[in-house]
Order: sequence, then C-alpha cells, then structure tokens
Amino acid sequence: MNIPSLKNTPTLVNALTNKVILITGAGAGIGKAVAIEYAKQGATVILLGKTIKKLEKVYDEIVSLGKNTPAIFPLDLAGAHEKDYEDMADVIEKEYGRLDGLLHNASILGTLTPIAQYDAAQWQKVMHVNVTAAFVMTKALLPVLLKSENASVVFTSSSVGRMGRAYWGAYSASKFATESLMQTLADEFENTKNIRFNSINPGATHTGMRLSAFPAEDKSLIAKPVDLVNAYVYLFSEKSDDNGVMFNAQ
Ligand code: NDP
Repeated sequence: MNIPSLKNTPTLVNALTNKVILITGAGAGIGKAVAIEYAKQGATVILLGKTIKKLEKVYDEIVSLGKNTPAIFPLDLAGAHEKDYEDMADVIEKEYGRLDGLLHNASILGTLTPIAQYDAAQWQKVMHVNVTAAFVMTKALLPVLLKSENASVVFTSSSVGRMGRAYWGAYSASKFATESLMQTLADEFENTKNIRFNSINPGATHTGMRLSAFPAEDKSLIAKPVDLVNAYVYLFSEKSDDNGVMFNAQ
C-alpha cells in the first residue's frame, strides 16, 4: 500500500485564519498540541474532551498567547447520545454559523490482549469511543460543516488500522473501521466541492496512550506531539484539496 507521508510538510503561517475547528481529545497528547497550533494559525478552536481540567489548561494557554478565544465542550464519548451531538451542532451553528474543520482525534487503546481472551464489553467500548462516536458526531455536524466554504474532516488512524497486528484487538478493528468511514464519506461527497474527508496516522508519538502501549520504550527516539503539527495544519488549510486519502504524519 502506497501511503503518502506529510513528514516534510513546511511550516505554514496564518494558514487557518477565520476557521472554526473542533478537535476531539483536545486536552492531552496530540490533540492538545494540534489545538494550540491551530489557534496560533488563526483558528477559533472548539476543545472537546472528557476531562474539563485538561481542557481548561489548553484554553488558558491559548488565551495567554493572545489568540482567538476558544470554546470548551466537555463530553464523554463513551456515554454521549445522538441528541448530545445534535445539541452541539445547534450551539455551533448559533455561535459561529458554520464549522470549517472537525478533527476526530480522541481514542482509547483498550487492552493489548489476544482475541481469544478479549473481553467483549471492552471490545464494545473501544469500538464505541473510537468509531461509533465519530460516526454519530460527523452525522450530526454535517449540516453545519456544509455551511463552510471549504470544510475538512480528518479521522485519526494508526498503522494497525491499515494492517492487523497480534494483540491489538478492538483498537486495530476500530481503526480499520475508521478508515472505512472516512472512505465512504469521501466517496459520498466526492461531487460536493466544499467538504473533504481524509485520515491521518500520526505514527509513534510520545503521549499517554503510547506510554500505556510501550512502557519500556526509549522516549527520546520517538516524535513529540509538537513535531506533527505541520501535517495537521496542512489538512485543514486551503493548501489541501485532498479527499479520501489515508496519510501518514511521519
Ligand atoms: P492520548 O491518550 O494522549 O489522548 C487521547 C485524548 O482523547 C485525551 O485527550 C482523552 O481525554 C481523549 N479521550 C479519550 N477517551 C475519551 C472519551 N471517552 N471522551 C472524550 N475524550 C476522550 O492519545 P494520543 O494523543 O496518543 O492519541 C491521539 C490519537 O492518535 C488517537 O486517535 C490515537 O489512536 C492516535 N494514534 C496515536 C499514536 C501514538 O503513538 N501516540 C500512534 C497512532 C495513532 P482525557 O485525557 O480527558 O481522557
């Protein structure tokens, strides 16, 4: 499989001016670094996540940089219902009139366990948070995304979302399903000029999730979340007209 890499994407300046972008999992790891960079690039960011304290820290950092005032949207994707997403869409429409970007970044790892021993309830939770929530959220937000002149929706994948690997169970299955969701949407909206759908695999990055999966790894050898931001900015900028593409960030 030939997967294009965004590793050498140049640093863009003011690439997201006046854009309204929602980032899930914006309180930690890659989502946090990317949300701060989007604000630096001129976007108004909507910070969605589970833990309010973490979102508030990101909010404070953006405000202290003198950037557009962000919004905080606390939501536990494991327990949210369709109505919660519809309400969110209404609030975004009232507040901003449109949504220019949606980064599905929040995910959970579940357990690294052979399929023969994989707990069925755990499987369902991982599939729910990583895929079903992204489906329901995208569905609810489509009308407000279509009000944008040039909307971008990006799903977060993984190398195990492109090739299965022993013990990665529900996480791997959820990332394959994420790619399918992205490709289906890209195909359905192929002839709609103001919206595009793509996916990105960040690759090994030093975050809480990576630490749970590889506790003994030498952290100095892998990327930090800030190392990836150019790739993530590109996908929401006017430079990208990609649709239906699976990218690697590294
Ligand atoms: P982290 O675990 O560091 O951060 C995940 C974020 O998702 C957190 O902000 C977390 O919020 C949020 N989140 C988790 N569960 C929920 C929930 N139920 N509701 C709302 N928010 C939730 O992960 P990374 O930054 O490492 O990962 C970001 C993305 O990149 C994920 O999709 C991951 O699968 C993918 N990825 C990461 C790789 C890596 O090496 N780091 C490699 C390949 C893919 P809270 O902190 O409040 O729980």
